[in-house]
Amino acid sequence: MSIDIQKIRKDFPILNQTVYGKPLAYFDNAATAHKPVQVINAIDEVYTKYNSNIHRGVHHLSNVCTQAFEDARIKVQQFVNAPNAHEIIFTRGTTEAINLIASSFGETFLKEGDEIIVSQLEHHSNIVPWQLLEKRKGITLKVIPINDDGELMLDRFEELLSDKTKLVSVAHISNALGTINPIKKIITTAHANNIPVMIDGAQAVQHVKVDVQELDCDFYVFSGHKLYGPTGIGAFYGKEKWLNQMEPYQGGGEMIQTVSFEGTTFNELPFKFEAGTPDYSGAVGLAAAIDYVNNLGLKNIAAYEHELHDYAMKKLSDIPNIQFYGTAKEKASVISFNVGNIHPFDMGTLLDKMGLAVRTGHHCAQPLMQRYNIPGTVRASFAVYNTKEEIDRLVEGVIKVSQLFG
Ligand code: PMP
Repeated sequence: MSIDIQKIRKDFPILNQTVYGKPLAYFDNAATAHKPVQVINAIDEVYTKYNSNIHRGVHHLSNVCTQAFEDARIKVQQFVNAPNAHEIIFTRGTTEAINLIASSFGETFLKEGDEIIVSQLEHHSNIVPWQLLEKRKGITLKVIPINDDGELMLDRFEELLSDKTKLVSVAHISNALGTINPIKKIITTAHANNIPVMIDGAQAVQHVKVDVQELDCDFYVFSGHKLYGPTGIGAFYGKEKWLNQMEPYQGGGEMIQTVSFEGTTFNELPFKFEAGTPDYSGAVGLAAAIDYVNNLGLKNIAAYEHELHDYAMKKLSDIPNIQFYGTAKEKASVISFNVGNIHPFDMGTLLDKMGLAVRTGHHCAQPLMQRYNIPGTVRASFAVYNTKEEIDRLVEGVIKVSQLFG
């Protein structure tokens, strides 16, 4: 099956609008993707048909809502091929998932002098939670450097491993450069040294098929909103051997078995890590997004996005003084660039006036920008609903702005 772009675009009502009198062309998909009507309708149905607080309810609506929430968990389980549904924990997104793991894994397993390895191309949300642990626990963060193409230097990674290393935490795909990291190799190497690995899949689940059993990662985290799902919901997979030992993250309803002032016992997985009323409408929306992606086929989506990427790269490359960041061999459909000395913010603001939505700045990856010694980049990231005609407009827009700045 190939991609029927006109049919797909009809699923995304938000695309059908003008910005400053120009048709909207949205290239900010790595920040968040738009939602198809199938997702919007699924959330709508929760509130129009069966909204009710989940678990423990004896009445009909509560049971229907609980079932929908737990079905969504199974959907996520199948999506990443996790062995068990109770190894899938719902969170608000990638950021909360990493904070949960840092906090709970850190509380249970880390002591002063231990080391965590991340990489130079991480999003802040895979840096700062570990830095907070540096302060709280006296651990040290080690960083895998990248080469000029934006690829992890694996030989340096191996040098960083020691008996002090307690976890490796790296992105599957870089949000700022699009680099697809060799995570299977990283996991195999870390495991050969008995070190668990967490993968930040925020930029990956919408582009590549993730199989956590095949990867054998210990944790895999992602957000719903970049996967055509709603905001405020995400999930992570964790091997039950870790989750069972880890301290809870937040306390409250749902995560307990018994509470008394003499002492509290905790619920079993996955509920131990889901304190409070969860975002069940979000989970249902996320399940609808997974269905949407599955129906199109991730392989088809990826092939189409690669076509868009290569088309854009070919055309953009002709622009004088354009500098690309992230020229890895293995790359997702993200293009990060600057033209001459034009500040990315100026480029983005002027493109916006042409109806072209790009992201500019450091992309929550300031250490990466420091590596390239730049304040930021212009980033165009493609989704399944983008077209070559839109890319033509983007290229024309970049040329116009370049000429404007001489
Ligand atoms: N990691 C990466 C690689 C990301 O791209 C993002 C989102 N830009 C995050 C983590 C954080 O995701 P969220 O804001 O959905 O929690």
